[in-house]
Amino acid sequence: MLSLAPHLVGACPRQLCALEMAAPKVAVVGAGLIGLSTALCISEAFPSCRLSVLSEQFSPNTTGDVAAGMLIPHTYPGTPIHVQKQWFKETFTYLFAISNSAEASEAGIHLVSGWQVFKTPPKDEVPFWSDIVLGFRPMSAAELQKFPQHRSGQAFTTLKCDCPPYLLWLEKRLRANGVQVHTRRVADLWELHREYDVVVNCTGIGAHQLGGDPELLPVRGQVLKVHAPWVKHFIRDGDGSTYVYPGIDSVTLGGTREKGSWSLSPDPGTTKDIFDRCRSLEPSLQRAQDVRVKVGLRPSRSSVRLQREVLSRGGAKLLVVHSYGHGAGGFSVHRGTAKEATRLVGECIAALQGSSSRAKL
Ligand SMILES: Cc1cc2nc3c(=O)[nH]c(=O)nc-3n(C[C@H](O)[C@H](O)[C@H](O)COP(=O)(O)OP(=O)(O)OC[C@H]3O[C@@H](n4cnc5c(N)ncnc54)[C@H](O)[C@@H]3O)c2cc1C
Repeated sequence: MLSLAPHLVGACPRQLCALEMAAPKVAVVGAGLIGLSTALCISEAFPSCRLSVLSEQFSPNTTGDVAAGMLIPHTYPGTPIHVQKQWFKETFTYLFAISNSAEASEAGIHLVSGWQVFKTPPKDEVPFWSDIVLGFRPMSAAELQKFPQHRSGQAFTTLKCDCPPYLLWLEKRLRANGVQVHTRRVADLWELHREYDVVVNCTGIGAHQLGGDPELLPVRGQVLKVHAPWVKHFIRDGDGSTYVYPGIDSVTLGGTREKGSWSLSPDPGTTKDIFDRCRSLEPSLQRAQDVRVKVGLRPSRSSVRLQREVLSRGGAKLLVVHSYGHGAGGFSVHRGTAKEATRLVGECIAALQGSSSRAKL
C-alpha cells in the first residue's frame, strides 16, 4: 500500500498528482564521501525532492576507504583562504557534534591528539585552521625530544573519520530520509536528462572522463593499514609525505603523492619505504601486525569544482551541479562543500519552479 507523508493524507488524487509533478527529481552521481555527504545535505534541505544516488562503486571500494580521514586541511591554491576556512569550520563543527553524541562509534568519528613536526620551520607558523582545531600550540622542548630529527612542531587535537563506518552511516541516514540508492555506471550525464530535473556530479576522479575536465588529475596515494593499538597519538611530518594516523581498528601509515599516476596496484618497494619512514617517527611500529596495503587516486585540481552548468541538446536542457576535485582534503571540507552544492541545487530548483510557473501562465 502507498504510504503518504503526514501533510499529504486527505489530499485528492489530482492534488497528489500536482504535488508529485512539483517535487523535483534530483540524482547525485557518485557514492564516495562527497556524493553521500552531498546527498544527505540535499535530503535535509529539500525533503520533498525525489532524490536518488547512482553510483558504479560503493564503500569499501571508494577513495575514502583508502584515506586516513584526518581533519587537517590541504590547501587549494585556486580557492580564497577565507572560503577554505569556512568549509573546514562547517565540517569540523558538524563532525565535532557527532563525536560528542551516542552516534560517534557507529559513525566512526573520534577526536585524536598529536603532533605535526618540521625539519625546517614552516613559512606560516600559524596555519589558517589553527583556531578551528582544538588546543593548537607550539610543541614543548620535552615533546620535541621524541623527534630528534625535527626542529619544531605543533600540537593539537582534531577529528578523524574512519571508513567504511562513516560512509555506511551516511548511507543509512540517506535511506532513512527516503533517498533511493542504485548501482549504475553513468557513461554521459546527458543520459539522465529524461529521468531527472537536476543532476549533481560527485564522481571524484571519474569526472575526468565523465565531464572531460582536463584540469582534473589523479594524485596516487599508497598507504598501509596496520594493527598497532598502542599507538594513540597522530604524527605528521610537516611536508605531509609521512604520517601515522591512529583510528578505531587500525593505524594508517603513509604515504605517497604521485601526480598523474593512474595505477591502483600496490608497489612492494613503496610499502617497505612507507614502513621505514613511519618507523623512524614511531619506533614502536616495528611490532605492528596485519599489514594491509591500499591505493587510492586523489581527485586533484587547483580548486574544488563547485559550479552550476546547463547542458542542452536539441532544445532540451539538463541542470547540473558539479562538486568534485577535493584532492587530498576531502574529509576536511566535505560538509562545507556539501552545503555549497546544496545551495546551488536550491538555485536550480528555483529556476525550474520559475520556468514551470511561467509555462502555466
Ligand atoms: C591515500 C589517501 C589518503 C587521504 N587522506 C586524507 C585525509 O587524511 N584527510 C582528508 O581530508 N582527505 C584525505 N584524502 C582525500 C579524500 O579521500 C578524497 O578527497 C575523497 O575521498 C574524495 O571523495 P570523492 O567522493 O570525491 O571521490 P570517490 O571516493 O572516488 O568517489 C567517487 C564516486 O563516484 C563514482 N563514479 C565515478 N565515475 C562514475 C560514473 N561514470 N558513473 C557512476 N558512478 C561513478 C565512483 O564509483 C565513486 O562511488 C586521502 C586520499 C588518499 C588517496
